[in-house]
Amino acid sequence: MENTVIKIENLVKRYGELIALDHLNLEIREGEVFGLLGPNGSGKTTTINCLLSLLAYDKGSIEIFGKPMTPTAYDIKQQIGIIMQDVAVFDELTVYENIDYFCGLYIPDKAKRKQYVEDAIRFVGLEDFIKFRPKKLSGGLLRRLNIACGIAHKPRLIILDEPTVAVDPQSRNKILEGIEELNRSGATIIYTSHYMEEVEQICTRIAIMDKGKKIAEGTKEELKRMIKNTETVSIEILELPEQVHEAIGKLPHVYNTEYSEGKLTVFCSGGKHNLIRILDVLQKNDLIFGRVYTELPTLNDVFLEITGKALRDKEG
Ligand code: ADP
Ligand code: MG
Repeated sequence: MENTVIKIENLVKRYGELIALDHLNLEIREGEVFGLLGPNGSGKTTTINCLLSLLAYDKGSIEIFGKPMTPTAYDIKQQIGIIMQDVAVFDELTVYENIDYFCGLYIPDKAKRKQYVEDAIRFVGLEDFIKFRPKKLSGGLLRRLNIACGIAHKPRLIILDEPTVAVDPQSRNKILEGIEELNRSGATIIYTSHYMEEVEQICTRIAIMDKGKKIAEGTKEELKRMIKNTETVSIEILELPEQVHEAIGKLPHVYNTEYSEGKLTVFCSGGKHNLIRILDVLQKNDLIFGRVYTELPTLNDVFLEITGKALRDKEG
């Protein structure tokens, strides 16, 4: 069994009347890419801020590397790399100088630091921009600088809070690949996001949060096995007589159907060849249809089934 890197027990954080974290329990083990997935306002950043002792909490306990985390636990803090949701770099310093500054907080040796800074620059792909000031960088490049500043000292534990929000696809891929590489080189990662696709792509274990509570936890396969949905069939069909809709709803393994704006959605639980059975009903009723597709469950379906609402809207 891998070592426990983080242990959060019964964490409660209130902002006045609002309960931002409601008895949260989390255990993160060495070598994991641990995903905290939840919609905006679910408490991800609050969790990170409590974890880092940046924020006082009302109840509970936090241990990192087997020791209680406190505002003065500098031996622990030294081994953590933090990439905050809001980019925090110095406008007056160049890309190189920014990374050198943050790295210098941990690595006093000049020659070693030079090597580390160069590694970080290469790692995020900012070689062509080292003399640029942050204001001259695009959103994606600025995010990459933010990451380089957080990881240059080669920390054992790296925490990234929504590092891909408002980032172009090229930078996003670079960031996701980079996180996987950091993990391969031995770092434990905590990654928060409201993008389920990213979390599915890179996280080895995931906790889904909603309203300050952990509502589910496991690998993506385990999470998907928790729910009833195994397949969602979508069919574009301009006209669907009520009795045909009902007949489809009564097919084996179909547990729910929706028809709106010319699209029929059929939710299936188990079974094989669900699509063929549905199309067979349409054919027997001599109905024409357009695009047809079937999807395996996503983490959004997990969230939907547990909370009754969608994790995010499509463009998110
Ligand atoms: P997330 O990072 O998942 O989007 P946050 O941890 O930022 O969520 O916020 C959790 C809840 O706490 C939200 O309802 C948010 O409005 C509230 N909140 C966050 N920070 C503060 C604060 N400083 N004062 C009051 N309420 C806050
Ligand atoms: Mg946040």
